[in-house]
Amino acid sequence: MFREMRRKGQELSKKECIAILGRATSGVLALAGDDGYPYAVPLSYVYADGKVYFHCAKEGHKLDAVRNCGKASFCVIDQDRIIPEKYTTYFRSVIVFGKIRILEEEDLKREAIRKLAIRYAPKDSAESREREIEREWGALCMLELTAEHMSGKEAIELVRQRKGGSNV
Ligand SMILES: Cc1cc2nc3c(=O)[nH]c(=O)nc-3n(C[C@H](O)[C@H](O)[C@H](O)COP(=O)(O)OP(=O)(O)OC[C@H]3O[C@@H](n4cnc5c(N)ncnc54)[C@H](O)[C@@H]3O)c2cc1C
Repeated sequence: MFREMRRKGQELSKKECIAILGRATSGVLALAGDDGYPYAVPLSYVYADGKVYFHCAKEGHKLDAVRNCGKASFCVIDQDRIIPEKYTTYFRSVIVFGKIRILEEEDLKREAIRKLAIRYAPKDSAESREREIEREWGALCMLELTAEHMSGKEAIELVRQRKGGSNV
């Protein structure tokens, strides 16, 4: 049911997609919003084992949208290098499609927030991290997006440069 990429030559491998998800620091989560208007909201995230985790408050547009429809996509831009003289961008991006849910299980929620905390504050001590998690715990909601389909694409110029062996 998920679409094939039309320009196959620009498609990234799953390994490359996962590497991008591992190095980008934010993306845009697209949800079915109010009255049929898509709601695309920027978020920090962590990717692990086929799942993308997000943290958020316990209410708001995003959570209402998740409750209304469990289907979502998440887009991360790895590179957007504008080349003015060519009227183009040397882009690289990934889109993940899947089912999203609020993590209700306490152990899974805790595991997910730890992953997120380690990703964004890798140098913090375990004690300090746990203190921070405890402090936020009551107000904290964790979302889990299970990837059903993942695609990555880069500009044709990057494909050519890659084949030519030059770095970009
Ligand atoms: C790089 C980046 C990383 C972020 N990381 C996180 C994160 O990890 N967790 C988190 O909870 N939030 C994060 N935010 C903030 C996030 O984008 C939302 O503002 C926030 O999650 C509240 O969403 P909501 O739907 O509950 O807001 P609500 O206040 O319920 O949304 C109501 C309306 O406010 C407007 N709105 C809300 N957020 C934005 C926005 N960012 N830009 C423009 N208009 C907006 C929309 O019109 C929306 O319909 C991040 C933002 C950026 C830019």
